[in-house]
Amino acid sequence: MTNDPAFSDEQRHYLEGLLSGANAARALRGLPTLSRAMAGLAGAAQTPVALTASAVSGPDAMARQAQDKVIAGGGKLCKEEKAKREKNALDLWDEMADRAAAGAFPKGTDVFLMKYHGLFHVAPAQNAYMCRLRLPGGVVSAHQFRGIADLAEKYGGGYAHVTTRANLQIREIGPGDPLHVYDGLVDLGVIIRGSGADNIRNVTASPTAGIDRGELIDTLPLAKAMHHYILNHREMYGLPRKFNIAFDGGGAVSPLADTNDIGFTAVRIDASDASAALPAGVYMRLELGGITGHKDFARDTGVILRPDQCVKVAAAVVRVFVRTGDRTDRNKARLKYVLDAWGFDKFMAEVEKEYGSQLPRLELEKCESRGPVDPMGHIGVHPQKQDGLNYIGVVVPVGRLTCRQMHGLAHIADEFGSGVIRLTVWQNLLISDVPDAHVAAVKGRLKALGLDDAATNVRAGLVACTGNTGCKFAASDTKTHAGVIADYLDATLQLDHPINIHLTGCHHSCAQHYIGDIGLLASKVARGEEMIEAYHIHIGGGYGREQHIGREIYRDVCADEAPAVIERMLVGYQQHRSDERETFSMFTRRHELDELRRLFDAADQLAAS
Ligand code: SF4
Repeated sequence: MTNDPAFSDEQRHYLEGLLSGANAARALRGLPTLSRAMAGLAGAAQTPVALTASAVSGPDAMARQAQDKVIAGGGKLCKEEKAKREKNALDLWDEMADRAAAGAFPKGTDVFLMKYHGLFHVAPAQNAYMCRLRLPGGVVSAHQFRGIADLAEKYGGGYAHVTTRANLQIREIGPGDPLHVYDGLVDLGVIIRGSGADNIRNVTASPTAGIDRGELIDTLPLAKAMHHYILNHREMYGLPRKFNIAFDGGGAVSPLADTNDIGFTAVRIDASDASAALPAGVYMRLELGGITGHKDFARDTGVILRPDQCVKVAAAVVRVFVRTGDRTDRNKARLKYVLDAWGFDKFMAEVEKEYGSQLPRLELEKCESRGPVDPMGHIGVHPQKQDGLNYIGVVVPVGRLTCRQMHGLAHIADEFGSGVIRLTVWQNLLISDVPDAHVAAVKGRLKALGLDDAATNVRAGLVACTGNTGCKFAASDTKTHAGVIADYLDATLQLDHPINIHLTGCHHSCAQHYIGDIGLLASKVARGEEMIEAYHIHIGGGYGREQHIGREIYRDVCADEAPAVIERMLVGYQQHRSDERETFSMFTRRHELDELRRLFDAADQLAAS
């Protein structure tokens, strides 16, 4: 073979492919990779590290081969990929134990690698670890909840955060204690491996799975099966970037499936469909590529699955992503970008190859979709499908619970429910299986804990990411500002529709600002000599049937001015909406931004006069 310029691009690509395939096969057998020079390809100069033999076998080899392919093609792995290549993050136990014994925090890329074990050193925001759990479907027993509270009390800051993936985080863990927390969680039956870094995050399900009067299917067993599949397949830890999976069984509370890399959404087929050879029944539609921080929702693939197929199909999607995701640029290393580059047909053909057979398709219109979401379905008392039982949605202000509250909630769940607590992606929780006769007692107990099952139309949909008190990426104190905004609006406005306000501290968009009716993305702005906290404000976002990416209406609004700006937006909406059924998002979507600014300014002047 030669580097002769007479080679066409096509021939050179063919040789690249041949080389990469040969290297992948050699890597599996533990043989050194062939150099580009041997293949006579241009750009043969590589660093010695890049051409190191890929002596990795077994399930870890899949990610290694994907890296080999990048290198063989002349690409440059990003620093996180290099770190993973040099040290297997799943084999760090001794290192973590030695570090904890020395009372030291990790440095450099070890900070990243420790996240594979759910342990985040979050300096400089806090010179401490944050521990992120894995609670499939957001379901946690009262016993576990109590135990988690004990760990947060003993080793953390005495509180826990409910996250937007229906999960918990313990914060302020000192340098000597990360493995005490890890071990304590394992003792409670909570396995957290892979809850951070380039992994499949907490698998979510409908929070009311199994108890919802309107659901099509109980998705909790699916979320649990997916969770255990991940824990027991090492190749599921070889991703180029993080990955989200959700199961929506219908019902009152949305798990925001369309914001996930893989979203499974339940549908019903009333009559058999001969063309797709599908008998009547409940199926899951496969949606791919959601990442609202990059302004994209998961899109329907046309594929429709029996529930028992979902886990293996999801695993096939993940394996294709492991092989094909970008390992050179972290910003492009999500499934969306493979789908954008390949198109859905090519991607799904690879998935089917991996899965081992063709998957049935059916037009969306031939399916009866899930019933409507109740925007207040996660708050207050709701009858379950089991006669005489209720679930009670508890408001958790900006997702923060003290250990005393956690103990109290566990006690309530044991005494009046079935000992189960369900966390939601709305940063709150449900206590399920409460008999009618005990509802009043539960409400009273919640009040005694400083909690409530009632919320205003502002507080029910208030979501805030960690913010700069605990996250180094944050440009502002999102949780505090969320509370201030809610206090202000509750004191000045009467809203007749629930409104979702999402505050997110950086472009990672943990609080999904683009899908809020009102979404705030933190920024910094100069005021005199000082740089102060501010927000870009977006409007009109939505999810599910109301799927919409919010539009930015104001930039760099100082945090202390944001409550009044939002107030005048809501007043302008109330003054100019078509009728009382029109929601804020419906209203804003039918106007151009300039027109909205004019209406909101006029509302301001009216209020001032
Ligand atoms: Fe941190 Fe950014 Fe996520 Fe907020 S959105 S928790 S600032 S990474």
